[in-house]
Order: sequence, then C-alpha cells, then structure tokens
Amino acid sequence: MHEFNYRKNILYCEDIAVPDIVKEHGTPFYLYSLKTVLGHLERIKEAFSELDPLICFSMKSNSNLTLCRALVSSGAGLDIVSGGELYKALKVGCPPERIVYASVGKTVSEIRQAINEEILLFNVESVPELIMIDSAAKKLKRKVDVAIRVNPDVTPETHDYITTGSGEKKFGIDFKTVEEIFDNSNKYSHVSLKGLHVHIGSQITDPSPFSEALVKVLEFIDKSGIEPEWLNIGGGFGIDYGPERAAEAADIAAAIVPLLRDRPYKIILEPGRFIMGNSGILVTKVIYVKTNPSGKKFAIVDAGMNDLLRPSLYRAYHDIVPVSQRDASSDIYDIVGPICESGDYLGLKRELQELIPGECLAVMGAGAYGFTMASNYNSRPKPAEIVVIGGQARVARRAETHRDLIRGEKIILP
Ligand code: PLP
Repeated sequence: MHEFNYRKNILYCEDIAVPDIVKEHGTPFYLYSLKTVLGHLERIKEAFSELDPLICFSMKSNSNLTLCRALVSSGAGLDIVSGGELYKALKVGCPPERIVYASVGKTVSEIRQAINEEILLFNVESVPELIMIDSAAKKLKRKVDVAIRVNPDVTPETHDYITTGSGEKKFGIDFKTVEEIFDNSNKYSHVSLKGLHVHIGSQITDPSPFSEALVKVLEFIDKSGIEPEWLNIGGGFGIDYGPERAAEAADIAAAIVPLLRDRPYKIILEPGRFIMGNSGILVTKVIYVKTNPSGKKFAIVDAGMNDLLRPSLYRAYHDIVPVSQRDASSDIYDIVGPICESGDYLGLKRELQELIPGECLAVMGAGAYGFTMASNYNSRPKPAEIVVIGGQARVARRAETHRDLIRGEKIILP
C-alpha cells in the first residue's frame, strides 16, 4: 500500500501532482508520503496487536527528522546504531525509554552518551562490548539494562550484504556464549541482563526464516532457563520493489504471534524498510539520451549512485516510472547517473516510453536506505527531502548547496 498513483497519466503523491513539485523545487529530490509512513506503522501495530509490542522504528533506514518525529508522536520508539542516531532520536523528542541501541562497534564515548541518556536497552553484540558497557556504567556509578543479541545461525534468502543472522557474520553472539554470559552474570556488576535480541537480516520476503530463528531462540530460552523480561525480535520485513510480492505484515505475524502468545516477555520489533521503503520515491530528470554504436540506449539522469546507492551496491531492483505518461512508443534504456563509475545506475534494460531530455522519472520504493546512504561522491550536493504532509509538499531538508560541500574544511598552506 502506498500513496503514489497516476491520475490522468500524471504521478501524484497523495493529492499533489509530482510535476508541480518539480516545477517549484527542481530535481533531483526525495519525496515522501507521511500518510503512507503512518499507514505502515498502523499495519504493523495491527498485525502484532496481540503481543502489544514496542515498535522501535529502525532509524538507519531513514533518519529524516520530520518522519521520525511523526512516528515517535504516533507512539513508536527508535532503534539506533550510533551516537549520531541517538542525537537525532533525542532531537525528534523520542523518550529515552523507547530507544534501543544495536551496533557491533559502539565506542566508549557512544556508550557513555547512551548511559547518560538512560535509554531502554543496549543490544549487546559481543563479550568485549559487554565488558566495556559494564566498566563505563561502573565509572558513571550506574546500572544499565542490556539485551544480548543472539546470532541464531539462520540464513534467510536475501542479499548477502544484508544477511545478519548466519553464523559467519559479525552480528550477535552464539548460543553457547550467550548462556555463559547469563551463567556468569555476577561478573557484570553494573549491567542487568534484561533480555534477548535477534535480527536475522533485511528485505526478507518470506515468513519462515523469522519463525525458524524465533523457534531456535525460544528453545534456547527453555533449555538454558534464562528468563528474559524483553524479547526483541528485530526487523527485516521485506517490501515489494518490483513484480515479486513480499509477505504482508499479517503473514509474518501469523508465523510469529502463535509462538509468543503464551510467553510472558515484553516484545520489541524494529522495522525500518517496511515502514519507509514504499513511502518514498526519488524524482530525477533526464539530462541526455545517448545511443552507443550497438544501438544500446542510455538515459542519463541527474540522480546517481551518490543519491541512491542500492542498485550499485546490491544490484537492487527499483521500479522506474515516468512522472508524466505520454502516448509514445517505448524503448529499452539503461537509466544511469552522472557519476564516473560504470556501476552508477538506477535501473538496467528498462522498457519505458521513448524518453526525451527534460522529462522526469520516479524511482519507486526509495524511502528506505535511500537518503541515509547518500553521499557527496563526485562533489555532488545531496538532494532535498520533501514530505507531503497535511495536503502540502513541504521541504523537510533542503537540497545541499556547493557551500555545504566545503563545510568544516580549510585549505592548509605548506
Ligand atoms: N534491527 C537491526 C539490528 C538492524 O540491523 C536492522 C537493519 O538491518 C533493522 C533492525 C531494520 O531492518 P529492516 O529495515 O529490514 O526492517
């Protein structure tokens, strides 16, 4: 479900015609529908209502302040992975008791910052990290609540780079070591072992790996006698990027809820992509159409891998559609950016109406891991982020300028 639809051949976001936004703001830009964002949050809430979970939106997927604030105002917490995300989480008014903090590489200063802010839980990813948290808490004369992130050794069917729950990955701790941690809890005098956390990967389109991982965790709990207060079952729910259909939140809930129904744990979910992915698009303009001697056609557009990295990094597929549909014959194009890399593309071999320079395309499903992965590569300013909110398209983050490119830098003379 999303709010990007054609009306009389023109792409709309909610009730706003995308070409009108182009006229006012130029391209490229990210465009989000707040209604879609909040609709997705409601769908997860509804699907898992029996468990009454705390839904901690995963900020790494999209840390736009306006969108995060809206989610927090609707009752969500936040899943963070850095001191920077903690800073932004507090800026949007997220109560610390709704913040959970994962990451395999929390530095001591990030740990101190999170202890001082009294977040709900650290999701601990290694024994050295646990020791570090314990000693930081001791110095601050505090006792902090943590969940141990289990690596259940389950490999979901998704891109290798976004698989996190298989044994050879850097994430989480194996069951045997987790048991040792709980058995030796008195070694960590300034830490309370409050729960377990499991997150097996992202863009998982089938419910079965979620239940497989959860069954392993529950069997472990029963065997080891651990009594967690919190069980964080992570995120990873996939979305539709193209013709293939991902499982609905309700399908995933149907696989998970029966396993947890009779358990006393407080449940946390950490969805990112499911909430944001189809809530945003990247709008870009065709600069040139170029044909090589073999007849292959490139539509060179004004957004590239620095704006949306997913196609280049993961060979990820995103639907690409014209912002204004014309009655024209079609052709096959590689939609490529201006960056000096052959891997700089948004879509390959796409059949589209015959493209002409100046017309705009929308890269669909760009709301998650889009802007948050954008960079200034090739000294390109990052695009604006525009949100349709209360029936208006409003700039939530302005496009960067050339001045932004040199912020913080100085020329040192010999
Ligand atoms: N939780 C953790 C620990 C993660 O690492 C991630 C992302 O990989 C998420 C939640 C969110 O995943 P997704 O955006 O697929 O829901």
